[in-house]
Amino acid sequence: MTDVLTPQQRHRCMSRIRAKDTKPELIVRRWLWRKGYRFRKNVKRLPGTPDIVLRKYSIVIFIHGCFWHGHEEHLHIPKSNTEFWRNKIERNKQRDERQKERLHQMGWNVLTVWECQLKPSVRSRTLATIEYYINHSYLLKQGNGYETPDQQTSIAAEPQSPYDVT
Ligand SMILES: [Zn+2]
Repeated sequence: MTDVLTPQQRHRCMSRIRAKDTKPELIVRRWLWRKGYRFRKNVKRLPGTPDIVLRKYSIVIFIHGCFWHGHEEHLHIPKSNTEFWRNKIERNKQRDERQKERLHQMGWNVLTVWECQLKPSVRSRTLATIEYYINHSYLLKQGNGYETPDQQTSIAAEPQSPYDVT
């Protein structure tokens, strides 16, 4: 990220990026809808207000902006106010982890999709992987009829999703 903005300008810019229904979320929602998956969006009563909730599949999806949520793959801390941004992003990451942990404990599978994974060049592969993950979770959940609370917990305790690059 180039650093041509004043802190005030950057703040305004980031506030806009953070707004609801930002583009990456829309890409995933529209695609899910076309594919026939039904979901709720911005579910406030769940930890972290997940962007997408597929109740039938016990899956919540977060679409994370790479800067705000500190995507390790290409993390560039601005050169001015470095300490401020580093702390802020670190706090965001810790909060994300806590919320994910709480969701796991509640029996949800958590899928994190990064903004950069929805760039046109990689988008179709990402969407295909999301679909695979949804169906895979669903089959596990249905598996052999032992859909007990214990089973829910063990599903939730599965290794991290393919999207957790961290
Ligand atoms: Zn990224």
